Amino acid sequence: MEQTFVMIKPDGVQRGLVDLCLRVLVGEIISRFEKKGFYLKGLKMVSVERSFAEKHYADLSAKPFFAGLVEYIISGPVVAMVWAGKNVVVTGRKIIGATNPADSAPGTIRGDLAIEIGRNVIHGSDSIESASKEIALWFSEGVAEWQSNLHPWIYE
Ligand code: UDP
Ligand code: MG
Repeated sequence: MEQTFVMIKPDGVQRGLVDLCLRVLVGEIISRFEKKGFYLKGLKMVSVERSFAEKHYADLSAKPFFAGLVEYIISGPVVAMVWAGKNVVVTGRKIIGATNPADSAPGTIRGDLAIEIGRNVIHGSDSIESASKEIALWFSEGVAEWQSNLHPWIYE
């Protein structure tokens, strides 16, 4: 089944900290993918090194915002995930919304939960090819292989 890499960025993690044990924003983001019918195959909270963040965003290294983007990603722990399902790359990007939250439609994660392009709470792979690269980078240990008993009620 098609897979994608999704990451709740440091602002998304910090803003979910409403008390010592309840992370509202992280839970809300996970539940949007889960309710759609995608399968969570990998999940971990991790603080990444600068060199790792630079590798993840290597395609953007020539952009003027690259240095700030790397600072942003290493500014705190992120929640890294692998989601699977039919068209999960393209549909996942729709659930996430446009890069700049000012342009993200209401109902999308960025449209509902973010204000600034440099604090847009979430990442999702932009193609099947980058998904497989990003999953290999972030989950070299592998992911869980499973399917829900409800599968035939969600997929034709
Ligand atoms: N970004 C930024 N300024 C820009 C464009 C992008 O700070 O002008 C950041 C933003 O956090 C974005 C990330 O760089 O999510 C990666 O950019 P990309 O174009 O890949 O957008 P995405 O795939 O995340 O929608
Ligand atoms: Mg991108």
